[in-house]
Amino acid sequence: MEIASINPATGETLKTFSALSGEQIEEKLQLSADTFRTYRHTPMDERSRMMQRAADILDTDKHEFARVMTTEMGKPIKAAVAEAEKCAWVCRYYAESAQQHLADLIVETNAEKSFVHFQPLGPVLAVMPWNFPFWQVFRFAAPALMAGNVGLLKHASNVPQCALAIEDIFLRAGFPKGAFQTLLIGSDAVEAILSDARVVAATLTGSEPAGRSVASIAGKNIKKTVLELGGSDPFIVMPSADLDEAVSTAVKARTINNGQSCIAAKRFIVATEIYEEFERKFVDQMKALPIGDPLEESTEIGPLATPQIVKDLEDQVQRAMAAGARVLTGGKRMGRTGNFFEPTVLVDVDLRAAVSCEEIFGPVAMLFRAQNIDEAIRIANVTSFGLGSSAWTNDRTEQAKFIEELEAGSVFINGMVASDPRLPFGGVKHSGYGRELAEFGIREFVNIKTVWIGEPQKSTKTKTE
Ligand code: NAP
Repeated sequence: MEIASINPATGETLKTFSALSGEQIEEKLQLSADTFRTYRHTPMDERSRMMQRAADILDTDKHEFARVMTTEMGKPIKAAVAEAEKCAWVCRYYAESAQQHLADLIVETNAEKSFVHFQPLGPVLAVMPWNFPFWQVFRFAAPALMAGNVGLLKHASNVPQCALAIEDIFLRAGFPKGAFQTLLIGSDAVEAILSDARVVAATLTGSEPAGRSVASIAGKNIKKTVLELGGSDPFIVMPSADLDEAVSTAVKARTINNGQSCIAAKRFIVATEIYEEFERKFVDQMKALPIGDPLEESTEIGPLATPQIVKDLEDQVQRAMAAGARVLTGGKRMGRTGNFFEPTVLVDVDLRAAVSCEEIFGPVAMLFRAQNIDEAIRIANVTSFGLGSSAWTNDRTEQAKFIEELEAGSVFINGMVASDPRLPFGGVKHSGYGRELAEFGIREFVNIKTVWIGEPQKSTKTKTE
């Protein structure tokens, strides 16, 4: 099998790689297991030094890494540089906080001493997506390696150069060779690897079908998983909000990463009183977005990562229109080389049509009207996903209601949903389970060991004396 790196802006094949053979996979699995036996005992301050070095490498070579990301999956270069910087941030965050997150927790019981002790599990398989090709990997790898685990990366097949660059960063940072390895393999090789006894757990960031598949393999083998899956995030705007700020943030929230983000706002639910003004301003700003070569600093929207994503979007727009939706701008692929799709606004999408709450992975927004807060929450929660949510209101009572009632892993009030190493990240419903980032993320792949120590006993020798 061949794994190809193809520039989505030009269609040019940049590089091809042969997928690993069974023998090569075996060697890497064994190296992973062998490395874990020693790496797990590396003192925390030594792990921290290596993780800080990884952060330094990311900062120093961020322009080089950004170019690899942009040419391989099409994100605008400014965003790619920011992604490399964010990876440095998560490495520093865990280099500095892992000790505290994993310190023994003393618990008062009837024992002389009892406490919770965190220990690494072993080799963890990370199945990762192409949309944030560095960030998704680092937010798994930084906590996993700081906890004393070792990582095996099965990256998306369209970003092999990113996958190899990340492996190289950890090597240059001084981590042992088997601490973090990239496996250039197709998804068909995942079942055998995850079923191998040397692999102890898996994390998958990707689509719902991929999550179901990996979770069922792990389930059969009784292995822990974390799933970070898709989303159809609502973005709700109420009358008391600052409308201009809400509109400009809404456009950014829909089109970030060319619209290919799990936490991109996908459904805009606007109170009837302000709907017309929101719609007019939103459409104007979507029309004005600079589209073009993602290597240009001024580009806001680049190409979609693969031709298949363009086809999927066309299909979704057509299904929405067949169910009565109107296109206010865009609606089709652009007549130029590369996987470009016009920024699109759909209105009057029938809430009974499946497409109304599917994940739309591209710059296509759907606008809905809500008569009141209850209707806004009902529309927001209608999807089977539950990743992020954003609600705009200056009314404290409404804020409290959104926080309580939105079915999502996060609620951002008057702000755009974003990940931050200091805050947990993850979803409910079909968006997955488990959490990444903060102390919750580093405690996903550890043995939470209960230790109970009784009163000292008199020795037998003492008794007979
Ligand atoms: P994808 O097609 O599910 O692929 C993700 C990864 O899973 C790739 O490495 C892929 O390998 C692998 N894969 C696919 N099917 C598999 C299977 N049956 N068994 C084992 N592995 C399998 O998703 P994507 O298109 O790369 O990424 C977009 C999706 O990721 C969206 O749904 C997005 O919302 C989600 N996402 C979620 C988060 C989050 O934190 N919740 C963050 C980012 C993205 P191949 O490339 O070789 O097929």
